[in-house]
Amino acid sequence: MNDTVDEVVRTAAAESTEADIHQGGVLEVAYTPAQLARLKAFHETELSYGEKDRTLHGARLHPVKLVKGLARTVEALGVTIHESTPVTEIRPKHAVTPYGTVRAPYVLRCTEGFTASLKGQRRTWLPMNSSMIATEPLTPAQWESIGWEGRETLGDMAHAYMYAQRTADDRIALGGRGVPYRYGSKTDNDGRTQPATIEALHAILTRFFPQLTGVRVTHAWSGVLGVPRDWCATVTLDRATGLGWAGGYVGSGVATANLAARTLRDLVQQDSGQAGPADFTTLPWANHKVRKWEPEPFRWLGVHGMYATYHAADHRERTTHTTTSSRLARWADVLTGRH
Ligand SMILES: Cc1cc2nc3c(=O)[nH]c(=O)nc-3n(C[C@H](O)[C@H](O)[C@H](O)COP(=O)(O)OP(=O)(O)OC[C@H]3O[C@@H](n4cnc5c(N)ncnc54)[C@H](O)[C@@H]3O)c2cc1C
Repeated sequence: MNDTVDEVVRTAAAESTEADIHQGGVLEVAYTPAQLARLKAFHETELSYGEKDRTLHGARLHPVKLVKGLARTVEALGVTIHESTPVTEIRPKHAVTPYGTVRAPYVLRCTEGFTASLKGQRRTWLPMNSSMIATEPLTPAQWESIGWEGRETLGDMAHAYMYAQRTADDRIALGGRGVPYRYGSKTDNDGRTQPATIEALHAILTRFFPQLTGVRVTHAWSGVLGVPRDWCATVTLDRATGLGWAGGYVGSGVATANLAARTLRDLVQQDSGQAGPADFTTLPWANHKVRKWEPEPFRWLGVHGMYATYHAADHRERTTHTTTSSRLARWADVLTGRH
């Protein structure tokens, strides 16, 4: 995964894709004593995997610029991308759209948070909403009071965690959980964000950076993540049907999707008897099986219950300064399969 970040950076440079990439590493902060205990435990685990003192591989980028650059690159290679053509059903060797059915020896489903809208996939990956805000560009004086010269990606260790980046045009873009999930696995396609979510994210912004209280929020948007029942991403090819899929990255899919795509490519090449350039088919996520989410109303109750519990646990940890993670949050993790 760490090498994959380098691979994305390297490929974007090789293809002259300007995506505001800055490999400044990751800065994880603890806001409370309980978060500090979790951060230390996380750090110990990272060290046991051979990580160095800091996660230097992490990079900030502008995802839309990356996607547009990628599209330009593959179109230049002769690939046709059909936009505004929803696939409504996938069957072996067939992808059904309102305009006709596409036939191919392999059909690969990489629809992440939107997977639930496909026939038969409602309970496969839970469409979890994630929302972000961006401030107006900050002044040099404001940046001087904040610091953050390294432009690391920033995150905390709350149960309902936040994440943020200093953008190329000197804004702060900050994200977290809004309305976590809509009943019946419904997905929004327009990115609209509820005022209450914007307010909640603004409150996190000013809690982290009190000097930004009067700063304007100029953008807010939302999207869906794909969450598997065990919160583990998978890459699968069913050899019998030629159907494949990759996804379930939860909130960390920009680099992960790259490695998943290369794994899926290797699975297809292996199946069709071609030798691939690298073999990722032995990674533990290849053909990993995961059970489906529960039917409604249990899905809705489980996710909303989990986030209500996380918010209560975060509040308790902030107000009591306890050094141990709330038992409630640990119970919610077990119930929803998060750990
Ligand atoms: C607000 C927000 C913040 C995030 N922050 C981060 C972050 O900081 N770091 C990180 O690594 N990840 C982050 N993510 C997650 C990351 O964006 C995703 O994991 C990543 O985009 C997954 O890539 P993908 O190509 O698998 O899926 P997507 O980018 O979701 O693309 C799926 C594509 O499939 C298309 N599609 C869906 N259904 C159909 C259909 N039926 N027919 C045809 N086409 C279809 C969609 O239009 C879309 O183009 C964030 C996500 C959100 C919403």
